[in-house]
Amino acid sequence: KTAGRNRFSFFSNEMNLLAQERIALETALREALRNDALRLCYQPQVRLGDGRVHGVEALARWRHPQLGEISPARFIPLAEECGLIAEIGQWALREVCRQLAEWRRRGLSIPTISVNLSPTSFRNFDLPRQIAEVLAASSLCGKDLTLEITENAFLDAGPDTMRVIHAVHAQGVRLSVDDFGTGYSSLGVLRRLPVDEIKLDQSFVHDLEGDGASRELTRAVQRIGDSLGLCVVAEGVETERQCALLQRQGYQAAQGYLFAPALPPEALEQWLRAREQAGASPSSAASPAG
Ligand code: C2E
Ligand code: MG
Ligand code: MG
Ligand code: MG
Repeated sequence: KTAGRNRFSFFSNEMNLLAQERIALETALREALRNDALRLCYQPQVRLGDGRVHGVEALARWRHPQLGEISPARFIPLAEECGLIAEIGQWALREVCRQLAEWRRRGLSIPTISVNLSPTSFRNFDLPRQIAEVLAASSLCGKDLTLEITENAFLDAGPDTMRVIHAVHAQGVRLSVDDFGTGYSSLGVLRRLPVDEIKLDQSFVHDLEGDGASRELTRAVQRIGDSLGLCVVAEGVETERQCALLQRQGYQAAQGYLFAPALPPEALEQWLRAREQAGASPSSAASPAG
C-alpha cells in the first residue's frame, strides 16, 4: 500500500512537472505571438523543366529566449491544443501576403507564395473574407496565394469546412495537399476537394534511391496528379540523383535542401537574385552554377 502510494505520488509529481513545463511553453508562445517574436522563413520551390522558381513556402520559426530554436513540429501542435493556432494562421496569412508584395516591388518574380494552415483555420466561416482582405491589402490576387493543408486534415471535414474550402478556392486561391501519400485517404481527398497541387511527402523521396518499389510509387503519384491536371511537387529533395529521377518521372517542381533550406527573407532574396543572374536552365535545376 505504501509502495503504491509512493508510486502514485512519484507519477503525479512527474506529471505536474510536465504540465508545468507545458504551461510555461504555452505562455511563452502566447507572448511570442503578441510580441511579434514568431518569424517566417521561406523555402524556394524549383521548376524542374527550366529551373525557374515555382513558388516559395513559408515555414514558421520560433526562437525561445531560454530554450533556443523550437521546431514547428513541436509548437504548432501546442498552438492547436491551447487555442492559438487560428491566430498563428491569420498572422502567417497577413505576413506572407505583405512579404510577397514587398518582394515583387523589389523586382523579384515569384509566381505564388505557400502557407501552411491547420484544419482549425478551415473551420472558421470568416476565413474567405479574411483572405480576401489580406490579399486586397497587399494588392494581390487569389492565385498569388497557395494554402497547404495535410491530407489527414481533410479526413473529418464536414459540410461546413467543405463550404469554406470551396469559397476560398472560388477566389482563385490555390489549394495544395501537403504530405501527400501518407494519409488514410489520398485519393479520396483528390475526389472531394478542389485541389490544384499535390506535394509528394518527403518520405517517398528519401526512399527513392533504394528499391524499385519506391520509384514505382512516385511514378504512380505523378501520373495521378498529371491525369487530373494538378501540379505535382516533390518535397525533401536532397540529392542530385533524387532530383534527376523525379525530373525524369515528370515532376513539375521540387523543394529541398538540394536547392535551399527555409531562409530568412533577406537570404531568400539573395538566393533568388543569384539564380536570376546565373540564368536558370533545365540543366541548372539544382544550383545557379549548374
Ligand atoms: P511541411 O509543411 O511538410 O514542411 C516541410 C518540412 O521539411 C519543413 O520542416 C522543412 O524545413 C523541412 N525540409 C525542407 N526541405 C527538406 C529536406 O530536403 N530534407 C529534410 N529532411 N527536411 C526538409 P519545418 O519547417 O520544421 O516544419 C515542419 C512542419 O511544421 C511543416 O511540414 C508544417 O506541417 C508545420 N508548419 C511549419 N510552419 C507552419 C505554419 O506556419 N503553420 C502551420 N499550421 N504549420 C506549420
Ligand atoms: Mg508544407
Ligand atoms: Mg510536407
Ligand atoms: Mg509535414
